[in-house]
Amino acid sequence: MSDCVFCKIIKGEIPSSKVYENEKVVVFRDINPAAPIHVLVVPKVHIESLEALNQDNIGVVTDIHAAILETTRILGINEEGYRVIVNCGKNGGQTVPHLHYHILGGARFDEKII
Ligand code: AMP
Repeated sequence: MSDCVFCKIIKGEIPSSKVYENEKVVVFRDINPAAPIHVLVVPKVHIESLEALNQDNIGVVTDIHAAILETTRILGINEEGYRVIVNCGKNGGQTVPHLHYHILGGARFDEKII
């Protein structure tokens, strides 16, 4: 989508600090990190949120999870562990309406919501 900030990053119209990219997914550092390591895993296709997944685009979830595994190895956090978060919609606190998974690492997260 032309006015989507993540679509602009994917097209190279806005700079980002990329840590991994393949045909389907890009991973870049969050501009406002909430942990020592905080990256966003973003499908190249514009999907608004988790709720916009459907039979035709659900395959992207596999691509995202494969990219998470690549990324945690690249960043060296796969052994110590990390947290993955997806915010969905207004009550989920989603601020960018393009599906993305947060990976948080480099620290131990003792506060638990669940
Ligand atoms: P959410 O609140 O789950 O929608 O997450 C959106 C995330 O995108 C926030 O953590 C922002 O800090 C991050 N963000 C917004 N704009 C950019 C940008 N241009 N580059 C990197 N991260 C961004």
